[in-house]
Amino acid sequence: MASQEIEALSAALARLPGLGPRSARRAVLWLIKRRETALPALLDALERVRDGLVECQTCGNVDTTNPCGVCTDPRRDARALCVVEEVADLWALDRAKLFTGRYHVLGGRLSALDGVRPEDLTIGPLIARVTAGGIDEVVLAMNATLEGQTTAHYIAERLEALPVRITQLAHGLPVGGELDYLDEGTLAQALRARRPV
Ligand SMILES: [Zn+2]
Repeated sequence: MASQEIEALSAALARLPGLGPRSARRAVLWLIKRRETALPALLDALERVRDGLVECQTCGNVDTTNPCGVCTDPRRDARALCVVEEVADLWALDRAKLFTGRYHVLGGRLSALDGVRPEDLTIGPLIARVTAGGIDEVVLAMNATLEGQTTAHYIAERLEALPVRITQLAHGLPVGGELDYLDEGTLAQALRARRPV
């Protein structure tokens, strides 16, 4: 029988995405064994996240400043705006270092099933941002899921009347992907997005 402290920590960790009760218990044991070495650094990092991070009121990114480092970076192209579902998507795109514009985080995707409506996302602020001007291109970088694509269509419609170019990420064959292994959806998208050679 584990102590109350261990149970409490296990329960807290088990709530993390991708970590079930079993992995949580293993993580707790790992931490207990290293409470002199690994734990102080973890506690310190957690405290800094708790005390030092804010949500950027312009784009929805999480950073130590508001507006965030991405929004205030003068080397970035303010005329290109990339719309993503979650902060994790912003980070993923930014790690790839291929997009040099700014971002807008929606905070999710439209979903009839989960009851997520346009007003539950930051679509209103996005329209306001684009309406304010100074933006030439809006890149819709939603996930290649049904809900992601529904969200992209909805936003494209709302932006239609504004003098801005709307583009969307191409979906298709992953690099190194073999046709044999792909699901039908990916294959269908790749075929639809075919281009002249
Ligand atoms: Zn920002």
